[in-house]
Amino acid sequence: MIVGGGAIGLSIAMHLGDLGVSDVLLLERHQLTSGTSWHAAGIVGPLRASMNLTRLAQYAIELFADLQQRTGQDTGYRRTGGIWLAQTAARMVELRRLKAMGDRSGLHAEMLGPREIASRFALVRCDDLAGGLWVEEDSQVNPVDLCMAYARAARAQGVELRENSAVTSIDVADGGLHGVVLADGRRINCRRLVLAAGAWSRQLAAGCGIGLPLVACEHMYLVTDVVDDLPDPCPILRDLDGGIYFKGDNGKLVLGAFEANPKPWQAAAGDAPFLMFDEDWEQAAPMLDAGIHRVPAIADQGITHFMNGPETFTPDTRQLMGEVPGCRGLFVAAGFNSIGIVSSAGVGKVMARWVRDGAAPMDLWEVDLQRLDPLMAGDEFLQRRLPEAVHNQFAMHWPFKQYRGGRDLRRSAWHQRLAARGAVFGAPTGWERPLWYAVEADESALRYSHERQCWWPAARREARHCSAHASLFELSPFAKFEVRGPGALAWLQTLCCSDLDLAAGRIRYTLLLNERGGIEAELTVTRLAADRFWIVGGAATRFKDLEWLRRHLPDGGLVELRDRTDEYAVLGLMGPASRELMQAASGLDCRDTAFPFASARVFAIDGTEALALRLSYVGELGWEVYLPLAQAEAWLERLLELDFTRQIGMAGHFALDACRLEIGFRHWGHDMGPDDTPYECELGFAVALDKRSDFIGRQALLEQQERGWRKQSKLCRVLADEVLLLHEEPVYRGTRIVGHCTSGGLGFRCQQALAFVMFYDRADLVATDFEIGIAGERYPLAVLDQPPRRPAR
Ligand SMILES: Cc1cc2nc3c(=O)[nH]c(=O)nc-3n(C[C@H](O)[C@H](O)[C@H](O)COP(=O)(O)OP(=O)(O)OC[C@H]3O[C@@H](n4cnc5c(N)ncnc54)[C@H](O)[C@@H]3O)c2cc1C
Repeated sequence: MIVGGGAIGLSIAMHLGDLGVSDVLLLERHQLTSGTSWHAAGIVGPLRASMNLTRLAQYAIELFADLQQRTGQDTGYRRTGGIWLAQTAARMVELRRLKAMGDRSGLHAEMLGPREIASRFALVRCDDLAGGLWVEEDSQVNPVDLCMAYARAARAQGVELRENSAVTSIDVADGGLHGVVLADGRRINCRRLVLAAGAWSRQLAAGCGIGLPLVACEHMYLVTDVVDDLPDPCPILRDLDGGIYFKGDNGKLVLGAFEANPKPWQAAAGDAPFLMFDEDWEQAAPMLDAGIHRVPAIADQGITHFMNGPETFTPDTRQLMGEVPGCRGLFVAAGFNSIGIVSSAGVGKVMARWVRDGAAPMDLWEVDLQRLDPLMAGDEFLQRRLPEAVHNQFAMHWPFKQYRGGRDLRRSAWHQRLAARGAVFGAPTGWERPLWYAVEADESALRYSHERQCWWPAARREARHCSAHASLFELSPFAKFEVRGPGALAWLQTLCCSDLDLAAGRIRYTLLLNERGGIEAELTVTRLAADRFWIVGGAATRFKDLEWLRRHLPDGGLVELRDRTDEYAVLGLMGPASRELMQAASGLDCRDTAFPFASARVFAIDGTEALALRLSYVGELGWEVYLPLAQAEAWLERLLELDFTRQIGMAGHFALDACRLEIGFRHWGHDMGPDDTPYECELGFAVALDKRSDFIGRQALLEQQERGWRKQSKLCRVLADEVLLLHEEPVYRGTRIVGHCTSGGLGFRCQQALAFVMFYDRADLVATDFEIGIAGERYPLAVLDQPPRRPAR
């Protein structure tokens, strides 16, 4: 069942039909397209911020042309090309990085100077432009006609589309979906449901106790009178720094914006179809000013139409897709941040498979709804985040950019104490965590740049201090799960690819794999007792990892799983001096013989259990200390008082990330994911094919071992000083793109620029003439046999 007959619901319906799924029913409360889809501008931009999202969007340009042929319904699809304008040098860097994405994906993207822009679109004011990017495949489509084509194709495959059928509630009980209740009181049972009700999805989900981080606002565009001398076809024009876009419409121009002060709007069950809000000229004034500035010819034109309708945004301006945690069978595809028309093709294709198979067909982590903290579904948070959610669609996508609104969602037990020591906080996952510690006054703010980062000196100082003495890292956001019960070991053995039949007190790094052998999670598992395990995962993947574990729990009550993340603060104490400090603060014997690497000890603080793990993500001698919240502050104080070396340092997230690169530690989400196997990521050491238990993904790994594999991740050194490595940078051999950077940065202890690179064909690794493209410049790249630093044990 699909709820919602907009572009998204209809595309999913058609793709389910194409897959041969029978018994598909789509329910639309009014007429098809009567929500948001009917009034979209219809811009189709295939080039997106990441490779996977570009691949999804690229499918639109293929499908929209085909649909016309397939259904006989004219979709108004037209390739016009598009120009992305840059007013500043920094924006040009961003566009050069985007062009590299275009090159990797096979799109035709080309950098333009102001004169070349003028030659393609003479009405554009170019005297204040640094340049731009031409994308050949930028297109437009008529959204209503596109929806009609989807509908026609879906019906032809036997899908039933039922209009005037409003769903009033979704029947969810005992962790599963049962069906829906309609406005006339009828019930319809279903086994799987996709909530694709656009702006109304949040409210429907809330009715069955599910919080969705969706926030709606008034979204508008203006249509001018006929403008003389428009090029034909008229390219899509995005003035990113002006926050506006143009597209041609039968000789007129459509002018829209991603404003910094959007007007919030609340969806309600009783909303009329084809909803339009009042014209709001005050709200539209900045857009109009920016539009006249960019295309002065429109100053003399009348406005023939003021379109103001609802659109839904998300906290990170990326849509919500996937199965709802804790509710099998209930899927969501909503929150399209004003790109739902172009997205509908790819989303329909992958959602149809996701629904049919119960598993995403490719790595969709960037848009998976499990990436967002459930606290983000709160009204107050969403209202505080809304302006950035909208504005960020076009605003500078600075490296390491931090949100301003909706901060302080989660703070650690010692937040104030760390702030007093100069912590500069960021909140990439909702948790406030120190990015670095300011020592000088001018270090206390994150100043954005595409070149030298303002925090490099601080992170360098912190990383070096850690390797010379000892430093504290705030690690509280780590996900912490406890697994216990007589069936605990047997269960974990079927889930994890490593052998976890460890002696009590021992720790092992392990991976959760899918049936394809792809990596769904990386975890550190400690066996606390015969029937008790402590599992630690990344902060960003807490809800995904928890759900994966929950879904695989066996019946029968032999295994108990608890999320203990919010009960413990975590401190990393790392560096050569950490042993003495740890020993003094915990009372534990921390000598190698008594507390070896990869082992754990429970110790008491005021009668409460704390846990120390001898591990290190930074490559120095070190401990992770798991402290019950009530004791956390006092313990940190004690540690600092005990600091007889007087040299204990504070180190932030940026130093941590730089250190892990130097020892060759990959991290999930960038360097590995559901489409990568352990062998492809040099993580074969974590796989125990010979353990007695079978485990998910084992068969796929056996097959891969037999037939070999093609792509290969490698740690590489970029032979240049102080380059800014992020991820997605292409790697070349001559003119051929042979790989891309999955994560990178400066190694401050080894003084090298390091990048994990996924090479698409291992056969290329015999070569030595690699180059990496960073914002249009190429630098030599050397594949390393060993990471520059060996981790201390
Ligand atoms: C001004 C403006 C310009 C835009 N320009 C573009 C653009 O150029 N390119 C682009 O790609 N995107 C653009 N968009 C965004 C695009 O319109 C949306 O992202 C897209 O239409 C979302 O589609 P949807 O199917 O998720 O939602 P909708 O089209 O809103 O569909 C949801 C459907 O669910 C139905 N529904 C709601 N509640 C229930 C219920 N209880 N029971 C049954 N049915 C229900 C609604 O009636 C509706 O038909 C623009 C949006 C706006 C507002």
